[in-house]
Amino acid sequence: DDGVSPSPDEGIEEEKAPFEEERPGPVQIVRARESDCIFDLDIAALEKILLQDHLKDLNVVVVSVAGAFRKGKSFILDFMLRYMYNQQSDSWIGGEDEPLTGFKWRGGCERETTGIQVWSDVFVVEKPDGSKVAVLLVDTQGAFDSQSTIKDSATVFALSTMTSSVQVYNLSHNIQEDDLQHLQLFTEYGRLAMEETDSKPFQTLMFLIRDWSSPYEYNYGLEGGRAFLLKRLEVKNNQHAELQNVRKHIDSCFSNTSCFLLPHPGLKVSTNKDFDGRLKDIEDDFKTQLTKLVPHLLAPDRLMEKKIGGSKITCRDLVEYFKAYIKIYQG
Ligand code: GDP
Ligand code: MG
Repeated sequence: DDGVSPSPDEGIEEEKAPFEEERPGPVQIVRARESDCIFDLDIAALEKILLQDHLKDLNVVVVSVAGAFRKGKSFILDFMLRYMYNQQSDSWIGGEDEPLTGFKWRGGCERETTGIQVWSDVFVVEKPDGSKVAVLLVDTQGAFDSQSTIKDSATVFALSTMTSSVQVYNLSHNIQEDDLQHLQLFTEYGRLAMEETDSKPFQTLMFLIRDWSSPYEYNYGLEGGRAFLLKRLEVKNNQHAELQNVRKHIDSCFSNTSCFLLPHPGLKVSTNKDFDGRLKDIEDDFKTQLTKLVPHLLAPDRLMEKKIGGSKITCRDLVEYFKAYIKIYQG
C-alpha cells in the first residue's frame, strides 16, 4: 500500500500541548522581539514538524521566499502548496473558483510579525533516482523599508538563506541597485556567521521579478530572466567599484543564480479588496508562467537537497543548524 501514511506519533507525545486540531497551516518558527533586534526560535514547534518519525532521517529540501513586505510572497507560496498537494495531477493549479489558501496573504496594511514561518506539512517526494526527500516550504517577513528595520530584515534574510537550498528573492518590477545592496548586506550577515569552507556558502538564489513589464525586451520566464540577469549583474570596467563588488559578492556566495520574469497578475489581484485568489480573476499570462515557475522549483527532478559544508543534511540536522544559527543573532 503506497497510500498516505497514517499519523506517526499518535498518543506518544502526551506531555506536549498539541496544536488544537492537526490541520496543516503556517507555523511561526522565528520571531523578532518587539523594538530590538533579538530573534527567538520556537524550538518545540520546529521539532514537532521536523522530528516526525517518517521525516527526521530524510534529506531535506528547503525552498524559501524572501523580500519586502506586500509583494506577493505568500501568494506565490500558496501556489507552491497547491503543487505539492497535487503533484500527480496536471491540474494542480486548481479550479477557477477556488479561493487561494495557505500562508496568509494580503490582509490590508497591518504589519505581520517579522520572522520566518514554515508550512506544517513537510512533503515526502521520491526523486527520479528513487531517493526520498522531505520538502519544507518557508515564508519570511521582513519590512526592508526603513533603516530601523533593515537590520531585522537582514537577519531574517540571512537565516533563511543559510537554511534553504533555494532562496527566492521576490522583487517588484526590476532589480534595483538598492535590491542588490540589500542582498550584499544580507548575505554578508550570513557569510560571517558560517564557518569558512572552500565551497560557496549558499546554494541557489532565484531573483523572482513580479510585474515584469518589458516582455518585448526580455521575455517572461526563465530564458528572459537569464538574459536580463546576465545584463544586470554584468561587471563592467567602467563601473563604480562598489557596484562591481556587489556583483562579485553575489557570485562568490551562491552556487547558482537564476532569474524568472513574472507578468502582472491583473488589476483584480492587485487592487480588488474582495479578490480571494480564485484563478478566474487572474490574468492568463500570469497563470501560464506560474505553471512553468512552480514545477521548475518543485518538480521531483528539480529538488535539490540542502547542503551544509558540502554534505546533504537531514531534517534532524536542520533543527540543529537552526539552533546554532539563531544563537549568532541573539547577541
Ligand atoms: P507578501 O507580504 O509579500 O507575502 O505579499 P502577499 O502575498 O500577502 O500579497 C500582497 C498583495 O499583493 C495581495 O493583495 C495580492 O493580491 C497582491 N499580489 C500577489 N501577487 C502579485 C503580483 O505578482 N503583482 C501584484 N501587483 N500584486 C500581487
Ligand atoms: Mg506574506
